[in-house]
Amino acid sequence: MTGTVSEGTPSRVGLVGIGIGPANLGLSALLDPAPRLVTRFFERRKRFTWHDGAMLPGASLQVSPLKDLVTLVDPTSRFSFLNFLAERGRLYRHLIASRGGTSREEFEQYYRWAAALMPQLEFGAEVDEVRLEEGRFVVSGARRPLASTRTLVLGTGRVPYVPDSVVHSGDHVLHSAELMHRRPVTRGRRVVVIGGGQSGAEVVHWLLEDRDALPASLVWTTRRDGFLPLDDSAFSNEWFFPGYVRHFGRLGAARRDALLRGQRMASDGVSAELLDAIHGQLYRLDALRPGSCSYRLSPGQELVAVDGPGDGPVTVVTRDMDTDSVVTEQADVVVLATGYQYRIPRFLDPLRELIPLDGDGYRVRDDYSIDFDGPEGCRIFVQGAAARTHGVADANLSLMAWRNAVIANAVTGRQLYRTEKETTTLDWSPEPGRTAGTPSERTAHA
Ligand SMILES: Cc1cc2nc3c(=O)[nH]c(=O)nc-3n(C[C@H](O)[C@H](O)[C@H](O)COP(=O)(O)OP(=O)(O)OC[C@H]3O[C@@H](n4cnc5c(N)ncnc54)[C@H](O)[C@@H]3O)c2cc1C
Repeated sequence: MTGTVSEGTPSRVGLVGIGIGPANLGLSALLDPAPRLVTRFFERRKRFTWHDGAMLPGASLQVSPLKDLVTLVDPTSRFSFLNFLAERGRLYRHLIASRGGTSREEFEQYYRWAAALMPQLEFGAEVDEVRLEEGRFVVSGARRPLASTRTLVLGTGRVPYVPDSVVHSGDHVLHSAELMHRRPVTRGRRVVVIGGGQSGAEVVHWLLEDRDALPASLVWTTRRDGFLPLDDSAFSNEWFFPGYVRHFGRLGAARRDALLRGQRMASDGVSAELLDAIHGQLYRLDALRPGSCSYRLSPGQELVAVDGPGDGPVTVVTRDMDTDSVVTEQADVVVLATGYQYRIPRFLDPLRELIPLDGDGYRVRDDYSIDFDGPEGCRIFVQGAAARTHGVADANLSLMAWRNAVIANAVTGRQLYRTEKETTTLDWSPEPGRTAGTPSERTAHA
């Protein structure tokens, strides 16, 4: 392999994490007490932020705050959300204030507090190349070697997804990921929101709630059959248990794909409280302030095009999936709440020939390392890039602490954390002839 980075000798460390979002922040926290493992984590942003461009006022965490960096694998860790609350003297008040959910802004504050306790994190350090040199990875940014290691953990997250049908690139069309950064003028204007997931719902709720944002007209469309709720019911939540990851990994690819499609609303649906709130907002608008904002909410609409002159109004064309009719809307602002997707980072380009893919994704093993034809002992682990092999929970916070415990154990070659013993209610693959069992028997079987 030839290198292009010009100067400096990189420090040799046991593990390099690239990207510091909740995933690698959690790994850093779990490895913090690991003796003899020197780690470094690099993040391109100047300080820790958590989807701050999409941090809409009042947005709530969609999961329990116990799904923090550490608690589900080490409730005694000093990096827990409860410890953060205790240090701030907010335990008692939080219990009451969070009855409707913990705010995402407060959770970001918690992450930032935890990040400040870890000197192994380096912000303002974008990684732009990883290459091999003398049997080790050399990780570089801005043509400067940052570190060399034999263990990489990629925690670079997902990037906003913009459908190909969006050809308009002017200021009037933006992704929900950047809404709070760009804050377009929406008051008294024609606004179209595309996308029926949690992000789209949060945008619509904000537009209707904030009088300074209230549009003259609002169109909210989605390809989904309806504005569908998050399936947060008890048994569906067991898809977010460690035992289910193991079960899922044993299935054939076609079965896994079908399951992921069927389980989608357990991850991508809109929280029921938010749907209720929007419904109530529209009722009050009609009952108390008629004429202040005309609106159309239409599910079952496939996006055909978002087009128009760069600085003028935008034309949004959708196709009604029930009737096949085409609907055209003129808008001053279009918000694309069209989700996020994983992309293999460009900094891996020098290694690409050594990374066999399955379709367009890595081949991820049980311990979250990927197949890699590089030198003996060099390993690459991935965060949030394994839904197709590890299940629906892979993209969200639910199993992050457990995933990091699995990675920490694999990296250190020791049982730093217990990852096996967790009881379940459901028995995903009963043995033929097996009858009812105790929780521990189910666990052993999982
Ligand atoms: C708006 C929003 C709200 C969400 N809310 C919830 C929720 O309530 N509950 C839930 O379970 N899940 C939620 N999720 C899903 C998931 O938990 C989050 O996306 C989570 O942030 C994923 O963590 P991550 O660390 O994998 O990636 P990210 O948080 O995306 O972090 C990746 C980091 O890597 C950095 N990076 C990328 N490339 C480089 C590079 N070359 N060099 C250096 N740094 C780099 C990025 O700057 C970024 O800071 C939400 C997702 C979104 C988008």
